[in-house]
Amino acid sequence: MTTDILNLSLDEFTDWLAGTGESPFRARQIWKWIWRRDARSFEEMSDISLALRKKLAESAAIVLPEVADVQTGGDGTTKFLLRLGDGALVETVLIPSESKDGRERMTQCLSCQVGCAMGCTFCSTGAMGFVRNMSMGEILGQVLVAREHLARVMPDEPEDQRLRNLVFMGMGEPLLNLREVLRSLEVLNSRWGLELSARRITVSTCGLEKGLAELGESGLAYLAVSLHAPNQELRAKIMPKAARWPLEDLLRFLRSYPLKTRERLTFEYLLLGGVNDAPAHARELARLMAHVKGKLNLIVYNPAAGSPYRAPDPAAVLAFEKVLWDKKITAVLRKSKGQDIKAACGQLRTAYLERRDAEKG
Ligand code: SF4
Repeated sequence: MTTDILNLSLDEFTDWLAGTGESPFRARQIWKWIWRRDARSFEEMSDISLALRKKLAESAAIVLPEVADVQTGGDGTTKFLLRLGDGALVETVLIPSESKDGRERMTQCLSCQVGCAMGCTFCSTGAMGFVRNMSMGEILGQVLVAREHLARVMPDEPEDQRLRNLVFMGMGEPLLNLREVLRSLEVLNSRWGLELSARRITVSTCGLEKGLAELGESGLAYLAVSLHAPNQELRAKIMPKAARWPLEDLLRFLRSYPLKTRERLTFEYLLLGGVNDAPAHARELARLMAHVKGKLNLIVYNPAAGSPYRAPDPAAVLAFEKVLWDKKITAVLRKSKGQDIKAACGQLRTAYLERRDAEKG
């Protein structure tokens, strides 16, 4: 049976290789080829003996997802639709931003499940329901696909500068696939892997009671919590499953969430036109956040076809933001990127399947 190396932690790979009589040093060397030098076959690993390369080629593989579709929007946002080994489709997005030195930097939004069980009412992925968890190899495969793409489109940037940040904000709820997410984070943090520090990786969750403490104790990533409503009643309407853990209890828990020096929690708030975007909601939100060390990302809703929601009026967005600033809450209005390529979670997959069905007739 062929072993998928992307699905093994360094320890697991070291043990596996030890079973063939090789030293831990070789395991680290091969890992570096995969993670830092973007090798896609054992043949490329020129400082590994021919005999070992042959042995590896016979018993192991580096399995990347297949790119089913890729689209780049006018603002530089690139969305990939990836086909996993069993044919399941997931999405990952590269979002450009300008750093302080004026250079372009990329943030990658990662998926961790095929579909999602949370059923948030504004989300295309929620509408498709839960299919299955992604393995560590599948989660990390997204990063390798992005690195390959960036090496092509940003050849002059140093390898470790192209992809600056990762956010687990794509398809799926990370706390519902915590084991594989934590395993992935360990590889991403590892000095033999991508060596991305926790402050460059954010895990975004609805905030489930089960798993949040474990994620915090791991110290492997920063935390973002999707609130999307300033009170329990409204949250229960738009995020019915997430709201099973009452908002008050979630916020109480977050007050003692383990933070690193200078770390602050991030709260996400999606502004839905006429639903949660009134000044009264902003005042409630400010009260809710008053005793938590956190900042707020305001995201303007980008309606998907058939959605029951609409985008908020620009004036309402500004008024909402002003209330928060007046209450001394750090709120940042996040520009919605990639609108022309359906970059919101789940939308590209839906559009792709509709297009494919139409083509089939
Ligand atoms: Fe799942 Fe996130 Fe969509 Fe909610 S918003 S249904 S948690 S993918």
